[in-house]
Amino acid sequence: MTLAELFRDRALVLRAQDHAETDRIVSVLSENRGQLEILVKGARRIERSWGAILDILNLAEIIYYRRRSGLHLLREAWLIQDFPGLRVDLPRLEAGLILTRWARELVPHEFPDPRPFRLTLNFLRALEEGGAPEVLLRAYELRLLSLLGYRPVLNGCLSCGGKEGLTWAADRGGLLCRKCGGSGEEVPSRVWNTMGAMLRLSMPALLRLRIPEDDLNTMDSLIHAFRAVQLAR
Ligand SMILES: [Zn+2]
Repeated sequence: MTLAELFRDRALVLRAQDHAETDRIVSVLSENRGQLEILVKGARRIERSWGAILDILNLAEIIYYRRRSGLHLLREAWLIQDFPGLRVDLPRLEAGLILTRWARELVPHEFPDPRPFRLTLNFLRALEEGGAPEVLLRAYELRLLSLLGYRPVLNGCLSCGGKEGLTWAADRGGLLCRKCGGSGEEVPSRVWNTMGAMLRLSMPALLRLRIPEDDLNTMDSLIHAFRAVQLAR
């Protein structure tokens, strides 16, 4: 076994899977290195506390051995925050799990940019503090896509800048008007204005947004269509 240097980081646990007899492999979103896969030796032995500290949705400080290939290896972990308010409320817990799944599916491994970590942490805190789960989820998805380089055009037609008759051209990167070749159902201006605001607003302003359920459902399908074609490239 070749061991590289020790590293210290803050990490959000996105997934924990049992491995071998007593070990666990955790996927974390680290502050400084994007997503990491870390082997936690003896995580399932009762006398060791690492397993409980590195449970899904926990924020921990970790020290780990970085390996050039394969899994990194945990040396020590301390719990910073475990979001108890998320775990006692089913809609919030579900939203928290969807959020961590987005992070796991989208944030690259060994990504030296702290923004995905900070974004995810801010949104988990907002969820715990009572923000509307569906509003926070849509805003998180838009912001995560944007900071990973997939920012949808939401302020008018992506071709001519027009504001009338806008449709969703997920493959082209956002709104497209009918004159420029947009087809399909029109996206109501109320919906695309709100989506644009979700990218810009401060967290306190975001928490005050009240959005009808129908609009949230429309946003959900627009965002998912966008993610599917943009990330398939
Ligand atoms: Zn146009």
